[in-house]
Amino acid sequence: MKLSYKQRTDNVKPIVVVSRCLGFEACRYNGQLDSSHLVEKLKDFVDFITVCPEVQIGLEVPREAIRLVKENESTAIKLIQPSSKRELSKEMTDFGEAFLSKLSKVDGFILKSKSPSCGIKEVKIYKTAEKGSASVKGSGLFAALVMEKFPSLAVEDEGRVKNYNIRQHFLTKLYIMKNFRVIKESMLIEDLVEFHGTNKLLIMSYNQKQLKLLGGILGSHGKLSVQQVYEQYQINLMLALNKLPRYTSNINVLTKSMGYFSDKLTHREKEFILETIDKYRQSKVPFSVPLYVIKSNVIRFEEKNLINQSFFEPYPLELDNVTDSGKGLDK
Ligand code: SF4
Repeated sequence: MKLSYKQRTDNVKPIVVVSRCLGFEACRYNGQLDSSHLVEKLKDFVDFITVCPEVQIGLEVPREAIRLVKENESTAIKLIQPSSKRELSKEMTDFGEAFLSKLSKVDGFILKSKSPSCGIKEVKIYKTAEKGSASVKGSGLFAALVMEKFPSLAVEDEGRVKNYNIRQHFLTKLYIMKNFRVIKESMLIEDLVEFHGTNKLLIMSYNQKQLKLLGGILGSHGKLSVQQVYEQYQINLMLALNKLPRYTSNINVLTKSMGYFSDKLTHREKEFILETIDKYRQSKVPFSVPLYVIKSNVIRFEEKNLINQSFFEPYPLELDNVTDSGKGLDK
């Protein structure tokens, strides 16, 4: 018997590539191990593939530090070990290309911040291999390849995911892309229709225009082959999830959801929900507060249009944690 969409997607864990020094092996240049609260938490929920690009290109532990160098506007960014004057750019690029091309199934990446290999942004780029201060910032060489080859996936660094909004966005994207990978394997149009239906409110909270476009792509089945529909859907899904949802869009979806059952509420209940949404508007409570208030009513009234919407639980509740570094709110 064919399993339902929900059974199939719930049965599969996301696959996440993680920097090995984040709790798996003491492979940092100084021989130390680092840690990430999110990585620890995710150990029970995802399948991790660990990578240490520097060790895997043959560097030892411990090792002399390496740095990114860009001498002038017309030269490429190089990866250099100042103490030995070795340039490691080609080794790193070749390794990255080979490693990433072998990943047949992957849904996201959590990489070590600020590393000249793994850092996704804010990595110091120096003008010379010798002493001197960094003039600009950019991405580590391995991380740059990750972002180039997997533009639709959830890619973050362990520093940025300490921020509540960024972490929530990362987990949402991770689970949505995992579900898309699962249905893409069988490539049935009815699965894509169900995927779209289940994620409708969630995508609406991200980007209403893209949601319309995605609906249009689904409707073009018949003119386009199933494979073309999937390809176009994936490209536009990526664009939809590109930026964190604005709080005004979240409020819009919360209010719209309330509309499904507001006629069954008492005046005081309605008032309470609207007050809670307003507290979120004023940043007095996190998004999860009005979300759970709406969700409890969806359950109470068994609202069939909303009960399966991923908007109310885009990833397992156990992964929710309202701690916030207060940093890195910008995308
Ligand atoms: S940051 Fe990347 S290259 Fe550096 S030790 Fe960690 S996994 Fe290895």
